[in-house]
Amino acid sequence: MQMNESEARGLIVEIGRLMYERSYVVSSDGNVSIRLDENRILATPTMTSKGRMTVDSLALTDLDGKPLSDTKASSELAMHILIYKMRPDIKAVCHAHPPHGTAFAVAGLAIDKPILSEVILTLGCVPLTEYGTPSTDELTEAMKPFVPHHNALLMANHGAVAYGRDLWEAFDRLETLEHTARIAILSRALGGANDLPPEAIEKLIHIRERAGYLSESARCQSCGYLHETGITCELEGTRTPNGTKISFTREELIELLNQVASRS
Ligand SMILES: [Zn+2]
Repeated sequence: MQMNESEARGLIVEIGRLMYERSYVVSSDGNVSIRLDENRILATPTMTSKGRMTVDSLALTDLDGKPLSDTKASSELAMHILIYKMRPDIKAVCHAHPPHGTAFAVAGLAIDKPILSEVILTLGCVPLTEYGTPSTDELTEAMKPFVPHHNALLMANHGAVAYGRDLWEAFDRLETLEHTARIAILSRALGGANDLPPEAIEKLIHIRERAGYLSESARCQSCGYLHETGITCELEGTRTPNGTKISFTREELIELLNQVASRS
């Protein structure tokens, strides 16, 4: 559904306030944008608290980031543009530094353990991309391999970005990322998290694909389990321990999971 510009302005201000109130950002951290149409992006302005924006303070650019308004867009807009160009289905992006998710990014950890059924259904795993200086090509280059397969990413020593078909979906994904990171940290404090068993993961993946929550390209949520087998799920296909890249069909993946399950 196409959103008109004035609705989009109101929604960005509302989401900015929510991000600030929930401590996903402080000071002038973070940025939010909506792709209005094929040629225009509405984005949060540079050096402004997301908790105190007004509908008139937002910046308008084209799809290459060229300004279409006097207000200057966030310096991190390149990250949003990369996502819009690689994912035609994505209409909104939320970037923030939520404390628990960012703690994972600072500790060098992805959020990829299959510990929560709802998260497997709605978000999938959240990979960690290599550190890149904010607002440079380094950052976008590091993100590139992951954007087609995931709806949220952690950026090493920086923060998180989530995206969706509209701004509420992008925000919800950011919220799920932060909530999952928090639960993971708390469960570690209680002695450790138990992963869901492989049969449960397979069922959840089946449900989410049938319901259309996530497509087959997001199947990496099971990688937390596959790691234990010495096989890591990576991008299109999968790498064996000696680095040879192979791909699995759905049936082959189920068969593999069953074999591993019967071995343990
Ligand atoms: Zn940032």
